[in-house]
Amino acid sequence: MADACTHTGTIRDVTPSARGCEECLKSGSWWVHLRLCRTCGQVGCCDDSPNKHATKHFKATGHPIIEGYDPPEGWGWCYVDEVFVELDHPTEQVGPIKRWVR
Ligand SMILES: [Zn+2]
Ligand SMILES: [Zn+2]
Ligand SMILES: [Zn+2]
Repeated sequence: MADACTHTGTIRDVTPSARGCEECLKSGSWWVHLRLCRTCGQVGCCDDSPNKHATKHFKATGHPIIEGYDPPEGWGWCYVDEVFVELDHPTEQVGPIKRWVR
């Protein structure tokens, strides 16, 4: 099972920390897509966003698994194994969330 994630035991039901990327909301920045940490509920932004807060959160905390937080995605991704992870309970988005359309 070389391609399988070994961190699925860390997946928790979490409460999203903010209605949008928490750090971008604080700094007045913007994002492309949102990512939700399934360890602690931190909402961050994806690698297409200028600030890449979801990746920064992983590097700072080691929390391995995030969920795509733009409905109807609901997929998981493990930063450590770099594989997609199936989520039994996708997190419902708490809105309204500001959408940045380019
Ligand atoms: Zn993993
Ligand atoms: Zn951000
Ligand atoms: Zn986290």
